[in-house]
Amino acid sequence: MGLIVQKFGGTSVGSVERIKAVAKRVKSTVAQGNSVVVVVSAMGKSTDTLMQLAQGISATPCRRELDMLLSTGEQVSISLLSMALQALGQPAISLTGAQVGIVTEPEHTRARILHIATERLERHLQEGKVVVVAGFQGTSNTPDLEVTTLGRGGSDTSAVALAAALHAEKCEIYTDVAGVLTTDPRLVEAAQLMSEITCEEMLELASLGANVLHPRAVEIARNYGVQMIVRSSWTDEPGTQIISSGTQPQVLQDLELGRPVDAVHYDLNQAKVGLLHVADRPGVAASLFGELAHQGLDVDLIVQSIHEGNSNDIAFTVGQEWSGRAEAVATAFGPMLPQSDLSSRSVPEVIVERNVAKVSIVGAGIIGRPQIAAQMFQTLSDLGINLQMISTSEVNVSCTIAAQDCQRAIAALCAVFEVTSSSDSRLVLAGHDGPPVRGVALDLEQARLAIRNVPDRPGMAARVFQTLAQQNISVDMIIQSQRTHQVGGLITRDIAFTVAAMDLEVAQGLLQKVAATLGCGAVVSDSAIAKVSIVGIGMLGQPGVAAQMFAALAQRQINIQMIATSEIRVSCVVSQADGVKALQAIHNSFKLG
Ligand code: ADP
Ligand code: ASP
Ligand code: MG
Repeated sequence: MGLIVQKFGGTSVGSVERIKAVAKRVKSTVAQGNSVVVVVSAMGKSTDTLMQLAQGISATPCRRELDMLLSTGEQVSISLLSMALQALGQPAISLTGAQVGIVTEPEHTRARILHIATERLERHLQEGKVVVVAGFQGTSNTPDLEVTTLGRGGSDTSAVALAAALHAEKCEIYTDVAGVLTTDPRLVEAAQLMSEITCEEMLELASLGANVLHPRAVEIARNYGVQMIVRSSWTDEPGTQIISSGTQPQVLQDLELGRPVDAVHYDLNQAKVGLLHVADRPGVAASLFGELAHQGLDVDLIVQSIHEGNSNDIAFTVGQEWSGRAEAVATAFGPMLPQSDLSSRSVPEVIVERNVAKVSIVGAGIIGRPQIAAQMFQTLSDLGINLQMISTSEVNVSCTIAAQDCQRAIAALCAVFEVTSSSDSRLVLAGHDGPPVRGVALDLEQARLAIRNVPDRPGMAARVFQTLAQQNISVDMIIQSQRTHQVGGLITRDIAFTVAAMDLEVAQGLLQKVAATLGCGAVVSDSAIAKVSIVGIGMLGQPGVAAQMFAALAQRQINIQMIATSEIRVSCVVSQADGVKALQAIHNSFKLG
């Protein structure tokens, strides 16, 4: 006899008939000898409908009142499901987040869970009842006991947090697809079900647009070793197992506020190769990285910033022992391009820096906490260390710096993020198994921002991203251009990045002010972008994976606007109109269908 937490999403409880079907499934789980806590979302699209009502009144409704409004959706479905269970003869009781005692920080519309009281839940379970809990909501840890919500899609997080607090045997997430698929089946019909995926990969996919799971749910599953399965509400298929590795038993206080950074990694053995002024047209990245892969050169970080005129800069790092060969490939690459493709210069310019170190902070707790990246930049800036390349994802921030600064940088980062030891990234990641590409994700809700001519000296990135972090605006894909400009005797670079489309307006306003105080150039934006990403633990140490992605895009004549990578993902920004086509081409190229 075990305790199981089952979560049913909006579509799964979208009608009275579906609620009755859910009740039958829950009852049969009980009949197999289990205690069951059920977590439900609001019916169908009702949260969207409530949101539209609010927006009909104000474009920027008060976040407290939004929580008050949105939390009502779940109250409808818990009561109906509890009635449906009772109608089947199964004792049941519905509880709101506040009644359970799901205590959160007082941050409206994006609260993190601090603690879950289990006494009342346990009492009802003892009485033989199924407890039906409203997902997505909680109550603040302030004397006023305000209603809070966890952020859109947050019922998954409620479910996994309850499973952690109750030490449940497992947490089953029931949804309208068969499990986690290689990509969104609404966009690529051939998407295939995965039988399993690691938490690390799922975290990347979920934060890159695969909204089948709330990334914070994966974070909790990983931190507390919760057994998590995603499966279909309509069938009995086994679904997808989310594998959590290396689970440490953790205290359940401050459940979602554990240490945001798990580790500081470094790689002292890198060289940076930059190729400036290459043509801005489809196929350039594909042929450059295709040739590097052909020569067996394993490329680590890749960044391509926003273009300027009709030319682009691409930079990448390789192990130092390969820097000579990588430089040769880059140098030979320029003249290979047809003359018409070259920008005003006759050949691209190749720059090589041999003594480069990569330092990274990693941790699922970076998700949704923009101040963490800002804090990393500030720490390095306080040491007077200049950042050369920056490449970020929601679970990883990597910078390249001069190798001689590496020891100081690591010591300071470990102190700031309370990580006791750092490690060589190649050792940490060795021994991971899996396909080079596990899944592909598309995010159409992003916008691109850039600040032109940011003075190239320590502290600039820190100032820029701190300003955004103070307003809780998360950024992704931060890329510093390799090309420099002389402005009034100062060396400057452009910094480009992506933000959630809904944050664009506020971010742009903030950046305009910062840019003026720091003496930067214009702030430019583009909201018609799409971000397409591949994720797979098996791409570590395997040359040619990024090249294959770029080639798939080139074949469809899709131009790449920006590139950023981490150890287990490659993301490209393309135009929004090309987004779905790009996703399909990549999915197809890696034979995921
Ligand atoms: P629920 O209401 O059950 O929480 P969601 O709509 O939040 O359901 O998530 C399920 C949806 O996620 C699917 O219908 C699918 O369109 C979408 N999705 C996006 N990427 C993936 C993926 N890689 N695997 C499965 N589903 C995905
Ligand atoms: N009902 C909420 C939403 O639509 C929470 C959830 O479904 O997970 O975002
Ligand atoms: Mg969901």
